[in-house]
Amino acid sequence: MLQHSYLFRHNRRKFLKDLSLAFGATTLGMPLVSLASCQSSGSETQQEQQTNQASGNSKKLGIALVGLGSYATNQLAPALQETEKCYLAGIVTGTPSKAEEWKRKYNIPDKNVYNYETYDQIADNPDIDIIYIVLPNGMHAEYTIRGARAKKHIICEKPMATTVADCKHMIEACNQNNVKLSIGYRLHFEPHNLRVMELGQQQVYGAVQQIEAADSFVFSGSSDKWRLDKELAGGGPLMDLGIYCVQGAIYTMGETPTAVTAKFGEVTRPEYFDDVEQSISWQMEFPNGAVANCRTSYNKNEGLLYGKAENGWWRLEPAYSYSGIKGKTNEGLMNLPQVNQQARQMDDFARCVLEGDETKVPGEMGLRDVRILEAIYEAARTGESVAIQT
Ligand code: NAD
Repeated sequence: MLQHSYLFRHNRRKFLKDLSLAFGATTLGMPLVSLASCQSSGSETQQEQQTNQASGNSKKLGIALVGLGSYATNQLAPALQETEKCYLAGIVTGTPSKAEEWKRKYNIPDKNVYNYETYDQIADNPDIDIIYIVLPNGMHAEYTIRGARAKKHIICEKPMATTVADCKHMIEACNQNNVKLSIGYRLHFEPHNLRVMELGQQQVYGAVQQIEAADSFVFSGSSDKWRLDKELAGGGPLMDLGIYCVQGAIYTMGETPTAVTAKFGEVTRPEYFDDVEQSISWQMEFPNGAVANCRTSYNKNEGLLYGKAENGWWRLEPAYSYSGIKGKTNEGLMNLPQVNQQARQMDDFARCVLEGDETKVPGEMGLRDVRILEAIYEAARTGESVAIQT
């Protein structure tokens, strides 16, 4: 594992150096003020047209999962058994025993199985339309960019990358190769969170005045130790879980915060948290004066999204889980269905590819959020209020 991690660092540095030579110091310079503005513009790409013509819009698109860890194994692969517009066509894994198991379990042919060295050959495989990156956060940029160069559409897990610069490179690579890029923001397809977007953005109970958001879980120090490694994770629970609080506050408001203050929490388990934070709390200000108080930690379990408006309130708890999300308002329980969020998310992206539509969770949204995460870390380090660049 250590050796693997060293190789990853070495290869990543080399990859990013090559990349900056290829792209120079360009930035997208795109204003990102609201959810709507996150949706990239542009007409149907060449690849979409080919896909549509070839399929007559009726074929299921093939998805290849890259990284067969916990989320790919327990959520995405099962969800791909329920999807209507896409299916599990291929895998990319560094572990031969996993490849054998997945081939058997999901009936995946040998020709659709790759490892990290053969990954780029996916370019020659017409069975794969979409690559889904489910690797540690610090690897998202490299595998997204290589996937885009292979002319495949990309879904990348959250957080999109560990730096704003990497996010920009990813967007640029997808644009240059005429492929779509989407972030694994499954809650945009979940009925209770969709209801919060409606209550907040449409001001059903008047203007939103206050938000409270919390997402935490007890890190047990099990197999996913990369979460404690700053280079692979980008940071601690803020990168992993706090991003849901940032998302929740923004989709409640329908706009981006203007400034943030933040504070790191106490480290009570230094044996784990010497590279990334154990907990952090922060406050985001919105243009109308509303404030979002947020917290995240690897030391307890909670998941909350609360909003208070002029004439009412709502509360999701748990708010961000894969199932069992519960919601109520000042009028009573939200009576909404439980759905397979990941199946809906992947089907919607497949629909966007097939129909030449824009995803509602594009790379630009991932970039916006990583920019805010960077501002939160800066605010915690400096003790100052940090303006959020749009
Ligand atoms: P995990 O540790 O279970 O899986 C990571 C996978 O990456 C493993 O298969 C591992 O073998 C592979 N890998 C390849 N190179 C590696 C390296 N150098 N070091 C460590 N692992 C390496 O993690 P996970 O929980 O499945 O998370 C993967 C990604 O999915 C993360 O970006 C995470 O934020 C995201 N995720 C999203 C959600 C969601 O709800 N959208 C939930 C969980 C995880």
